[in-house]
Amino acid sequence: MCDANMRHVCLISGGKDSTALAIYMMNRHPDINMEYVFCDTHKELPETYEFLMRIEAYLGRQIIRLSSDFGERGFDHYLRMYRGYLPSAQTRWCTRKLKIEPFEKYIGENQAFLYIGIRADEYREGYISTKPNIKPIFPFKDDGIVINDVFRILENSGVGLPNYYKWRTRSGCYFCFFQRKNEWVGLLENHPELFAMASQYEKPEEGYTWQAGESLQELMQPERIEIIKERSLKRLVDAAARRRPKNLIEAFTGEFTEAEGTDSCLICHL
Ligand code: SF4
Repeated sequence: MCDANMRHVCLISGGKDSTALAIYMMNRHPDINMEYVFCDTHKELPETYEFLMRIEAYLGRQIIRLSSDFGERGFDHYLRMYRGYLPSAQTRWCTRKLKIEPFEKYIGENQAFLYIGIRADEYREGYISTKPNIKPIFPFKDDGIVINDVFRILENSGVGLPNYYKWRTRSGCYFCFFQRKNEWVGLLENHPELFAMASQYEKPEEGYTWQAGESLQELMQPERIEIIKERSLKRLVDAAARRRPKNLIEAFTGEFTEAEGTDSCLICHL
């Protein structure tokens, strides 16, 4: 780890695990000259940008914002390139264009360790390097760090959780297609202007919607919202009952764990 030619890069997504990892590494290995990096799509939630400032205040270091929009090449540019075809779990051009390519360009041909915040109690692989000079490493997996440890690290540091956790389980673009239906409702209730912007990207008559089979205009109808909220509550109660939590906090952290399935973005939600 102390090879002077190696770069050490901690990718911060604006979520709890990558933030906890940045804090963990700084406290355990203050000798490592870590580069903290955030891939900015410029379509993130305001809460994420606020959280980044909190993380920077704790680390006492700037988080480097990487962006693909050199010369206007942001999300809207690529959407035009893809002829209005919205990204989806099956066609995830957004991750490649807005996150992976800027990140790999930033590393260039240097040898680098990439620190990834996947926990010991998770079953996902995260960013898979296609470049042999980028070596992913997983300190939380190696050290047996699980979700309750992550909450403890964030709480003890004073950084806490990002404010979007009140209504959404993941960081990422405000229009991210990985959102659950109740998270879209959360977007509508917390950021109606962003919900409206997400809706403007859709062309239901051509089959372009963020979620299969339902446009945001349909989802935002009061009777539909009521159904979504009821189902979400039922899922939460069922999940809590399965886990037999000792208290409400455990019930909610259980919901976080269950919500973080393998369908998350490989690089966006590290
Ligand atoms: S957060 Fe979602 S929409 Fe944004 S780049 Fe990642 S997968 Fe795509």
